Amino acid sequence: MISMVYSPEYIKHETGDHPENMERLHVIVESLEKKGILNEINVSKPQIAKYEDILRVHTASYINSLRSFCRKGGGYLDFDTFASPETYKTAKLAAGGAIKASKLVLNGCNVAYSVARPPGHHATQDRAGGFCFFNNLAVALEYLRRVHGVKKFLVFDFDVHYGNGTAETFYEDPDVLYVSIHQDPSTIFPGNGFIEEIGKGAGEGYNLNIPMPPGSGDSDYMFMLKGILEPVAHEFGADFYLVDVGFDGHMDDPFSRIQLTDDFYPWIASKMLDIAGSMVLILEGGYSLGALSRCNVKLINGLRDQLTSNTSQKQADLDVSRGTDVSENISPETRNIFKNIKDLFSPFFEF
Ligand SMILES: [Zn+2]
Repeated sequence: MISMVYSPEYIKHETGDHPENMERLHVIVESLEKKGILNEINVSKPQIAKYEDILRVHTASYINSLRSFCRKGGGYLDFDTFASPETYKTAKLAAGGAIKASKLVLNGCNVAYSVARPPGHHATQDRAGGFCFFNNLAVALEYLRRVHGVKKFLVFDFDVHYGNGTAETFYEDPDVLYVSIHQDPSTIFPGNGFIEEIGKGAGEGYNLNIPMPPGSGDSDYMFMLKGILEPVAHEFGADFYLVDVGFDGHMDDPFSRIQLTDDFYPWIASKMLDIAGSMVLILEGGYSLGALSRCNVKLINGLRDQLTSNTSQKQADLDVSRGTDVSENISPETRNIFKNIKDLFSPFFEF
């Protein structure tokens, strides 16, 4: 069973012609409606996250200052993160969407997908940034841990940008394995997310970055994810899986130089479901409206096929690689990154 958590109230985070605007969710919902998918999956509404839910991740002084900033009318918090008067409340609703999706999975749903905005993975404990205010995924994770006693989490983030807020929040935490595949951070926001950032203290070895050179495409991503994510996830053995979904690594996206095609998204979704068994998906970025709506439909259809066993993972692999051996097309640069990650993580994982 697939559930989507969505609210038309997300429009209230008003950003005008900013790239992170309400049109993004509008085209997602409209395309699902047109394809008849909205009638075939469960759609439910989120509740606003409580103050105490947000406080498990963010500092009281940050929460209070965002609230008063919005009450006074909002504006730019940094060079690209814009808050409107209703942003504080809408950001709490987006965090509530991630909590609602988590509850659905706890209650037996295979996949629950929070289609929300503002996004969250760049928000740190005490700072907004990269269009994000509250870290929706982190708030859901702490809710699962503190309220439901869930112990071990795997967080996988395939937004084209490194989820620095999520990584920082769990950087010293051995119970949260954060795996992120993103464009090489020396070429894109937020400027960190290098291989060497492996976690700290007890969390050393539990922050795994896969930085991809500009120009990387489906085959490069598949090579890395099959070679790293799959074995590491099996070895770690999480109790719960949370996935940050970003469509901004698509070749049509204006903000990245990664060249993923439409076919990548159903592949990665069914690969993750294969690994996880059940999972929460949380929408992050994606700024080409065409790619966003098309790839989101394909992602959901990939999951539906997987759940009804219409497509085996092997077939999905073939579809993406056009019947060729994926490893044949991999650049020496990508192979080198793979080797460096493997060497660096050899004290922690046997992949
Ligand atoms: Zn992004």
